[in-house]
Amino acid sequence: MIELFNYLSRNTTKDEFKEILNIVTDDIKFNNISFEKITKFKNLADLCQATYKLVTRKDMLWIKVCTSCGYSAWSLKYDVKCSKCGGISKCQNTR
Ligand SMILES: [Zn+2]
Repeated sequence: MIELFNYLSRNTTKDEFKEILNIVTDDIKFNNISFEKITKFKNLADLCQATYKLVTRKDMLWIKVCTSCGYSAWSLKYDVKCSKCGGISKCQNTR
């Protein structure tokens, strides 16, 4: 989860990042979900991805999952080398 926010902050301006956090937080409050209840990282990742697109108007953010170790990462490229095991991380979720 921290990695996700790190990724977002690196790939957005300060204002964009603030906006994304605000929207995500509002959305979570609106849907009456507490942070503790977000057990599935994917749900938050989806939400952040959608918000990222909305705020930055970029739609090339991919969730990659390593085919060897299952480590998930975010990248703008379609296929990347896994940062954990060196295997290939393939795009799991397209836009
Ligand atoms: Zn891996």
